[in-house]
Amino acid sequence: MTRTNGQWRLAKRPVGMVKESDFEYAEEALGEIADGEVLVRNLFLAFEPAMRGWLDDVKSYIPPVQIGEVMRASTVGQIIESKNEDYPVGALVSGMLGWQQYFVTDGTPGPFGGLSLVPDGIPPQRMLSALGGTGMTAYFGIHDIHPVNEGDNVLVSGAAGATGSVAAQIARIRGAGKVVGIAGGPEKCAWLVNEAKLDAAIDYKNEDVGRRMREEFPNGVDLYFDNVGGEILDAAFLAMAERGRITLCGGISAYNEKELPPGPRNLMQTVIKRLSIRGFILFDHLANAAQAITDLSKWSASGELVVEEDIQEGFENTPKTFLRLFEGKNLGKQLLKIADPE
Ligand code: NAP
Repeated sequence: MTRTNGQWRLAKRPVGMVKESDFEYAEEALGEIADGEVLVRNLFLAFEPAMRGWLDDVKSYIPPVQIGEVMRASTVGQIIESKNEDYPVGALVSGMLGWQQYFVTDGTPGPFGGLSLVPDGIPPQRMLSALGGTGMTAYFGIHDIHPVNEGDNVLVSGAAGATGSVAAQIARIRGAGKVVGIAGGPEKCAWLVNEAKLDAAIDYKNEDVGRRMREEFPNGVDLYFDNVGGEILDAAFLAMAERGRITLCGGISAYNEKELPPGPRNLMQTVIKRLSIRGFILFDHLANAAQAITDLSKWSASGELVVEEDIQEGFENTPKTFLRLFEGKNLGKQLLKIADPE
């Protein structure tokens, strides 16, 4: 049976804020699969701010997406044809299958990994949120980079997003003394306190962030988990406790800047307060993925970890859904549903 594979490809490199027109829709005909191959139909696409960095032609921790290539992205799909006994028809799988409706593979891992079978009993899209890259990033950041100590004062930026929401809750689960999240707008801040059960939230769009940090933490912040960089990171330096730790997970505030802004004005606080600052990349920690998934699954099943997914619909909305990350429209993990399982 001949099928048409709709794809979103990179049309041009974004300059400044990424736009829908930086991507173009294309179609290609799919032939019969060969022996050993499977045909996957994508059901959910996942969106991450880091994907903005993959569009720039610069040296980074992975190569950039090339013009004309299908946009790289994590997805969950279903095997709908199979000539490979490891992947039977009907099985749900996750992998880096890109912004396209179908994907043909013999299961051999590519440069960005292979196919993982989705375990029974979980909503499949969970493999892209709390049990996927962003959930694991939060896990390793809070466990391995600067482990949270019992009683720590913890501050998390980007706290209503996919990574931040999980990081802040793991800190709470692991016995932090006080956990405060920073997010944009009253709705996100209400969610952080009422649903994610943080001690307080700071609305950086409507409040004086530096003053609120110092009010919430009169003795200083022991652990700051930063997803945004920029002005918020700069303010956090002044709010840190002596010998505090800063985990640099991301810096979304600058991902769409044409010219990078100057570095933090308050960096000297690192010297004055003997701070430790460490950045990390998830890919370096995947050897411990099984433990992370076990713990995240346990906390999610017990209700200790609230998992929020923002699920938009329609393959035609793919680039538009990506932009939601930079418009602050998503609460929790940004996903797009493009098909139902058979
Ligand atoms: P996310 O937080 O679910 O979504 C992005 C959020 O960032 C938006 O909802 C928005 O929330 C906030 N934002 C957008 N523009 C902003 C700005 N100019 N200033 C401050 N906040 C802004 O995305 P995510 O996938 O979880 O990623 C969060 C961070 O983790 C990113 O920096 C990402 O690169 C990083 N990350 C790192 C790794 C790693 O291996 N190190 C892995 C995954 C993710 P508000 O409404 O609150 O502004």
